[in-house]
Amino acid sequence: MRYLTILLCIGLVSCNSKIKDTQITLADNPVIAHRGAWKAKDLPKNSIAALKEAISLKCTGSEFDIRMTADEILVVTHDADYEGLDIESSTYKELAKHKLSNGETLPTLKDFITAGMTNNTTTGLVCEIKPSKIEGRNILMADKAVALVKELKAEAYVSYYISFSYEVIKHIKKIEANAKVLYLDGSKSPEDLHKDGITGLDYLVWKLKNKPHWITEAKDLGLKLNAWTANKEEDIDWLLSHEFDYITTDEPELVFKRLKVTSDRHD
Ligand code: MG
Repeated sequence: MRYLTILLCIGLVSCNSKIKDTQITLADNPVIAHRGAWKAKDLPKNSIAALKEAISLKCTGSEFDIRMTADEILVVTHDADYEGLDIESSTYKELAKHKLSNGETLPTLKDFITAGMTNNTTTGLVCEIKPSKIEGRNILMADKAVALVKELKAEAYVSYYISFSYEVIKHIKKIEANAKVLYLDGSKSPEDLHKDGITGLDYLVWKLKNKPHWITEAKDLGLKLNAWTANKEEDIDWLLSHEFDYITTDEPELVFKRLKVTSDRHD
């Protein structure tokens, strides 16, 4: 019996490490599921279930938002409060008493990345760092996120860090030269981003429709182009026709459908 237990343990360990050691090759499509692929199956946004759904659709990326609790745990959630509790002034234990609507525990960044490294060979993790209201916390969050990715050896899985805070993405680039970072705010020209060594831009669709010359400029400078949040067929087709590297969407299934229509037309 003892031998059987030992053999089982060895089997489990080697099996797990095999999955984790699998190198990720991002899927060859522009689809980034916004807060995971939650809509079609009515899953909670930013849940591990929505991340796994994005992986099973083979999206090239699954976006999620992170914030930091009072006891400095990075958690995956969008709003500044969760179940009526202010995240920055609550402990993780207090927050985690409240489950997500599918019964999942509020994911820590560590749990979320670990899930993203399991049975995933296609889908990059697109980590949005939400700016803090508290002085100094932006830098601390960026430091902690990058350190955790290193600790988990998840560099190949985290395809991008994105933020509305220019301070955050510039800092990430400073501490981790290989990290890829996109700016979300829409206020900086491609030339400014390029000067600061930023990988690319991820702006609202309508902001780019108003400034189409930024698309050409970004391409000329070798910047990555992403746009959010494209849920309407018209916007998706517009981004596809302008050959965006990425399309961030709540409707990944629709983007796959429009991609097929476009590629069938070219056949
Ligand atoms: Mg986000």
